[in-house]
Amino acid sequence: MKAEIISIGTELLLGEITDTNAAYLASQLPLLGIDLHFISTVGDNKQRLIETLNHAWQRSDIIITTGGLGPTEDDITREAIAEFFHEPITIDQSLVSQFKELFNSFNMDMPESNIKQASVIPSVCIIANPRGTAPGWWAEKDNHVIIAMPGPPGEMQQMWSNVVAPQLQDKYCHAIIYSKTLKTFSLSEAKVGELTRAYLLAQNPTVGIYAKPDGIHLRITAKAETLSNARELVEKAAVEIHGILGNYIWGSDSETLEGIIANLLTINSMNLAVAEAGTGGILANTITNIAESSKFFKYGTVINRGDLKRDYGINDAIIKQYGVVSEEVACIIASAVRAKCDTSFGVGLIGVIESDDSNNKLGTIAIGIANNTGKRGFKKVYPGTRMQVKQRAAISALYELKNILTEETKCT
Ligand code: AMP
Ligand code: MG
Repeated sequence: MKAEIISIGTELLLGEITDTNAAYLASQLPLLGIDLHFISTVGDNKQRLIETLNHAWQRSDIIITTGGLGPTEDDITREAIAEFFHEPITIDQSLVSQFKELFNSFNMDMPESNIKQASVIPSVCIIANPRGTAPGWWAEKDNHVIIAMPGPPGEMQQMWSNVVAPQLQDKYCHAIIYSKTLKTFSLSEAKVGELTRAYLLAQNPTVGIYAKPDGIHLRITAKAETLSNARELVEKAAVEIHGILGNYIWGSDSETLEGIIANLLTINSMNLAVAEAGTGGILANTITNIAESSKFFKYGTVINRGDLKRDYGINDAIIKQYGVVSEEVACIIASAVRAKCDTSFGVGLIGVIESDDSNNKLGTIAIGIANNTGKRGFKKVYPGTRMQVKQRAAISALYELKNILTEETKCT
């Protein structure tokens, strides 16, 4: 089956937002064994969208659109598809009732303009949107299907994984596709590529490399006639890649570093306190993304560098000997915060994100991790913007903490 994506929205053409929807869908279609041949972008203009649909119809079996399903005047996807199909629009009253209930649950009256989102045409099956009022459209005609999904990425992705992908798989995919993502940290994309080159060139399973904020991910995908055969191909490659990349792989699929740490701390009845300078609390913020983090996360503080001497005893002599952004200073902070909060682990994080810092390159960070067996320090330099370095610093601290936790809790 040949597929084509149409991203709809004038803001995309103006460069105001990046088309992450097309990128997401492009990454998902291979998992279904569906070939993507074109991605087009069109503004909020009905005639130009109809022209684009017309082109797509000539050359593709599956046309996936995102955007233009909102309640406002410029949202014209439904009208364009109806006109392209020469079908009249009617209002589905059961959808109107659902919208009213949704608004009522927020103690609001439904604005009249939302009625437009209950539009249907005879060829359409509605796709539920659990996260908003814009239902999707699955419109089939003459062995072609147009699948229209809302623009907000969260709504689109949920609709894709709940309904659209399984339905496409049922209808069009005779092979079973199975995939697994291995997540690495600390190695560059080029290095991961070099080490796994043989797998990147293979046909089944295929392996793709993706740079993500939490490291380099490897997605292994296999196609087979049965799920167990596809899974076997993937798992065999995963074991071999584990053999090559070892501890650089910290997790897989939906796992996060903070989630793994939360589990390890919880099952070992341990807890954690962190203190960070120059990273604005991003480490504490990331840890508290985990539900019930208060059970193991006892304390987090943002240190002003000017207070390092007063609060942590980091005097001029220490700074002269080691530098502010050093493993030694990070370890002093880690031990101090651990002692203050009486926790199993203390983490100190200090980052250079000021361009006038004379001793270190912009992007230098130091991490200290203390527990009852001692303390360990790490120093790293990350490229990127202020925000990217802060994020990397937090991920880096979590990665080192996860390694130490795994090592030290192995025997218990
Ligand atoms: P719409 O469904 O056209 O009303 O889109 C609503 C919002 O979804 C837009 O304002 C964007 O923030 C977001 N959005 C729409 N299309 C895309 C896209 N292709 N990629 C990422 N975000 C999008
Ligand atoms: Mg729009």
